[in-house]
Amino acid sequence: MSTNQLYAGYQSELVDFRLAFSRGGAYTAIVLVLLGVGLDYGQYPQQQFPFAVARVVVSMLIAGVVVVLYSAAGRRFAPWLTLTWLLLPQIMIAWMISQTEGVHSPYYVGLNLAIFASGIALPFGLWQNLVFGVLSYLLYVLACLFHPGGIEPLGTFIVNSLFLLFAAAASAVYTYFNERARFMLFRLKAEVAEKNAELEAINRKLVDIKGQMLQQEKMAAIGTLAAGLLHEVNNPVNFCLMAIEVAMEEPQAKESESLTECLVDAKQGMQRIQHIVSDLKTFAYRKPGAEVEGTPFMFEKALDSSIRLTAHELRGVKVTRELPADTLVLGDEAAIIGVLINLFSNAALAMRKAGTTAPAIHTTVRWAEGRLHVTVRDNGPGIAPEHLARVFEPFFTTREVGQGLGLGLSISYAVIERHGGQLFAESELGQWAAFSFDLPRAE
Ligand code: ADP
Repeated sequence: MSTNQLYAGYQSELVDFRLAFSRGGAYTAIVLVLLGVGLDYGQYPQQQFPFAVARVVVSMLIAGVVVVLYSAAGRRFAPWLTLTWLLLPQIMIAWMISQTEGVHSPYYVGLNLAIFASGIALPFGLWQNLVFGVLSYLLYVLACLFHPGGIEPLGTFIVNSLFLLFAAAASAVYTYFNERARFMLFRLKAEVAEKNAELEAINRKLVDIKGQMLQQEKMAAIGTLAAGLLHEVNNPVNFCLMAIEVAMEEPQAKESESLTECLVDAKQGMQRIQHIVSDLKTFAYRKPGAEVEGTPFMFEKALDSSIRLTAHELRGVKVTRELPADTLVLGDEAAIIGVLINLFSNAALAMRKAGTTAPAIHTTVRWAEGRLHVTVRDNGPGIAPEHLARVFEPFFTTREVGQGLGLGLSISYAVIERHGGQLFAESELGQWAAFSFDLPRAE
């Protein structure tokens, strides 16, 4: 934030501050002016009545200014209205001095008091304070001049004048530093607010990073588990397959139709397990962060192929895309086509199941920081927040038993990780789901 901007902000906040103080000060002035009847009683009892009338009139005038201070115009002219109501008691005191003892009157102390109070209690600017001090002094000079005795004795007049001018100077200096302190306070407040906003942004980023790291850790743990499981399952499955093959060659098996049928069923079951095992291998033995292997290929072509290969599932779905001119990336083209097929068919399936009207899939592709970022977004039913972090887990599926294995996204996750990128999901339940990943640029 520039100093000018800060200063403008400070001025606008100061207006409220000044208004509040001005009103508070005016109420105090009314009370003090009225309580001054006690002074009149002690010092000038013979003038009690006209002075009391003057005090009531001045109090009412101050109250009038307070009313204006509450209006919109009052807000704009607050400093000058404050100066006006401050001068009212000064004029009254000057008139009292001229009506009584002139230079000898102790009422000049009242003028001094107002000058000090204006510097200490009111958030005045330096210039307003100086004007007020000088005007107060001029009123005192006029009061002495209009007194029948004139400026006599001169010595006392000089002493009182100096006291008044000293008070004005001290009050101005005080105001100056007060103003600076207020400005510094405001700047500090603005800086703290700015820092707080920065911290909030950092916090949000950290929460994001924490989420990503948790996801990666979870996938790594599941990967280790899957690898262990594969090791244990692979050998028995192979033995079984071999044993079934041998059994099928036995004469008894060849003679008995039902036995052959049983063996064929068992063989198919084992082969299914073998397929799942080989799918899981991609996930279990993935190497995140390893050097990307593969050849350069045009991502656009891979996208075309995957759309063609899923044409059957994408019937009735509006497929749109947004691509940069050059999409040359490095990696395993077949595996990336696999990922895209998985994303498209998942989206098509979710939309069909939910009966989405006007189903659409939009693919956005753009370059950022040397990598190609791809987002496949559909307007289907979306993914529930509690499922969002789980969709990449192997065997996580919301499809009916026997319809989906829940391996598609976990394998895709592993493929993208092998390309040094990350596959992640975002969604608004009932609105849309989007899967994004990134691939390295081919040098
Ligand atoms: P499968 O398709 O066999 O269920 P996946 O790993 O491909 O396995 O997907 C896991 C789950 O993620 C799906 O069962 C589904 O609940 C959810 N999912 C994936 N893509 C979408 C999508 N585009 N819209 C809604 N849900 C989705």
